[in-house]
Amino acid sequence: MELENKVKKLTLGHEEGSGAPCFKCKDKCEGFELHFWRKICRNCKCGLEEHDVPSSNEDDRKVGKLFEDTKYTALIAKLKTDGIPTYKRNVMILTSPVAAKKDVSINTVTYEWAPPVQNQTLARRYMELLPKERQPVAGSEGAQYRKKQLAKQLPAHDQDPSKCHELSPNEVKQMEQFVKKYKNEVLGVGDVKLPKEVGAAPGEAAKPDSGNRSTLTTVKSADDKGAVPSGSAYYCFRCKENMKEGDPAVYAERAGYDKLWHPSCFVCFTCNELLVDMIYFWKKGKLYCGRHYCDSEKPRCAGCDELIFSNEYTQAEGQNWHLKHFCCFDCDCVLAGEIYVMVNDKPMCKPCYVKNHAVICQGCHNAIDPEVQRVSYTGFHWHASPDCFICSCCSKCLIGQKFMPVEGMVFCSVECKKKMTS
Ligand SMILES: [Zn+2]
Ligand SMILES: [Zn+2]
Ligand SMILES: [Zn+2]
Ligand SMILES: [Zn+2]
Ligand SMILES: [Zn+2]
Ligand SMILES: [Zn+2]
Ligand SMILES: [Zn+2]
Ligand SMILES: [Zn+2]
Repeated sequence: MELENKVKKLTLGHEEGSGAPCFKCKDKCEGFELHFWRKICRNCKCGLEEHDVPSSNEDDRKVGKLFEDTKYTALIAKLKTDGIPTYKRNVMILTSPVAAKKDVSINTVTYEWAPPVQNQTLARRYMELLPKERQPVAGSEGAQYRKKQLAKQLPAHDQDPSKCHELSPNEVKQMEQFVKKYKNEVLGVGDVKLPKEVGAAPGEAAKPDSGNRSTLTTVKSADDKGAVPSGSAYYCFRCKENMKEGDPAVYAERAGYDKLWHPSCFVCFTCNELLVDMIYFWKKGKLYCGRHYCDSEKPRCAGCDELIFSNEYTQAEGQNWHLKHFCCFDCDCVLAGEIYVMVNDKPMCKPCYVKNHAVICQGCHNAIDPEVQRVSYTGFHWHASPDCFICSCCSKCLIGQKFMPVEGMVFCSVECKKKMTS
């Protein structure tokens, strides 16, 4: 009974970002309009993250929901009014007085997110260790990067069945189990600390007979790269370079406090992007972003971008598809059993292809059917027929013959070429 209710409540967030202009397509997109079931704009076919969506609470609610029922509930707050968990993002505002002649003005820099640590100097230093274009300073390229990565790395439809399209009660159940499992076993948030402070970290209790703190941190094995360079004995788990004395490192509780990362090395194993807000998924010795962790566990539909929890799905063109989502990228007609053409990795029905993408024959000036043989040469195309692939001068058929191309024309001989081009 409970499931029934859940299914009825399913809605898609059609309203978010509505009308926002597209960064990529500029004037060509009339404004964001969410496709009925794909997670893209109906007008320009780009994702929401490519559109200039004014900041909203959506992102904080999404991350809030991700941390709900996890050990990271300290990072979220529940509104009394609606009980929806919201991410308590650590916004860091740095002010520095600028002395002008008489009065003092204040320069402010707002970081839309900063590591949730008490020590602000540490958070500041963490930021400095990131590339400039990745620092989420409000209004900067870095803030836009963060927003885009939130959309890419943590799709709402990877954690919330209500953001998915037409799931069956059984699919909802499976998804809930899947989400519960990764929340309990895989999901984590990075921890920024000075390596020398980590000795007493939880989970790293010293062996009773040890007493030597230096054994608690990872030191590269001696035969790996020779002697330990001077300065620091702490190594980044990713790049294997040592940590600079006094610089903060990122730790991942799921990985154990014997591993640490340079702030800029705390990236997803698959996409290599900085893990947004240090939110990671730890699996078999590797850090992943949410999307790529889920991809390593479940097939993802290349049509709607949702994970597939149904046993019935199809594989085509090296990708997975819900049966009902193997559709023409242009007109959404179902392609199962139909002839289709791949255009930029997207399937397209034959009529749409012929209408929008088919190449034109230089001989008869008609579109070339994708199923029909053609001759292509330096960006020009011909029907491979004796009526079309012919000498532009004497009309001799050139199939299987030597020919001389000139700007979309072809000739059988120097003589014919001379006659037409001189
Ligand atoms: Zn676009
Ligand atoms: Zn658009
Ligand atoms: Zn590193
Ligand atoms: Zn990734
Ligand atoms: Zn799908
Ligand atoms: Zn179509
Ligand atoms: Zn032709
Ligand atoms: Zn000729």
